[in-house]
Amino acid sequence: ANEPGPAGKTVVLAEPRSFCAGVRRAIEIVEVALERFGPPIYVRNQIVHNQHVVRALEQRDVRFVSSTDEVPRGSVCVLSAHGTAPAVREAAEARDLRVIDATCPLVSKVHQQVVRAARDDRTVLLVGHMEHEEVEGTYGEAPERTHVVATVDEVRQLDLPSDTPVTYVTQTTLSIDDTREVVDAIAARFPDLTGPGTDDICFASQNRQNGVKALAKRTDVVLVCGSANSSNTVRMVEVAQLAGVRSYLVPDITDLDESWLAGATSVGVSAGASAPEFLVDQLLDRLAELGFDRIQVETTGSEADITFGLPSAAVGAPESKE
Ligand code: SF4
Repeated sequence: ANEPGPAGKTVVLAEPRSFCAGVRRAIEIVEVALERFGPPIYVRNQIVHNQHVVRALEQRDVRFVSSTDEVPRGSVCVLSAHGTAPAVREAAEARDLRVIDATCPLVSKVHQQVVRAARDDRTVLLVGHMEHEEVEGTYGEAPERTHVVATVDEVRQLDLPSDTPVTYVTQTTLSIDDTREVVDAIAARFPDLTGPGTDDICFASQNRQNGVKALAKRTDVVLVCGSANSSNTVRMVEVAQLAGVRSYLVPDITDLDESWLAGATSVGVSAGASAPEFLVDQLLDRLAELGFDRIQVETTGSEADITFGLPSAAVGAPESKE
């Protein structure tokens, strides 16, 4: 039995945490598609990088595939929140799939910036990691004009004259802090540079990283709910560690190791942008049983006013083709 621990230990909860607006929308799109078309619904790639979300949808006969080639002709196929290369969308349409695009509107903006830059004969520097799905999709908009750069060294090594007209874009799941050095290196090398305006940048990752940094200042241990394949969630753990506290990823409540809390009188809690809030609720219940029963909130940003509508292909209006 779980004996209640000594009372009066504190949990500090980061706000905002858990789903970003793009992830919330992508899940809603799959749910609406399930209701409207009935199962099975196919989804290319994980709709969001979280095992709980994927498993819950699988139980409702949502089938995750890594290629649209695996989807039977004529079926409904949702493209994930991270964005998709045009070649993939075309292949899906060629197979007569009913395509519903769940790409986050802020990721679509990045795609449009790449298309525009390529049209203007500019070279695109995409700051991010080639192995991340989002980068694969963005790169696919103009592969012949795009270079993916993840580090300052990679910027230095680019075989481009310094007067090259350059447009940079960034992987949205990286924070402004994560990309700053690389963007500065790009700016130092290429004076003819354009980049995204403040309105085009997604602050979800930055807000969550600011949150764990603030938690690190006032708690003994920082716990971050989310899956190990979510790069932004893993990064939150690293950011907390760099800020000087012990920090651990909690993919599931069963992964909580109580020895992490030894000697702690305060625990910080947050969750990655792909992690459902019920994981936080379960963690808070468990922490309360362990004596962490006073809850405080640390706010480092607001996302309350960020909501995106659903695409017409999901809600039923006739789809417009461009
Ligand atoms: Fe959209 Fe930002 Fe979430 Fe990426 S992190 S899905 S850009 S809201």
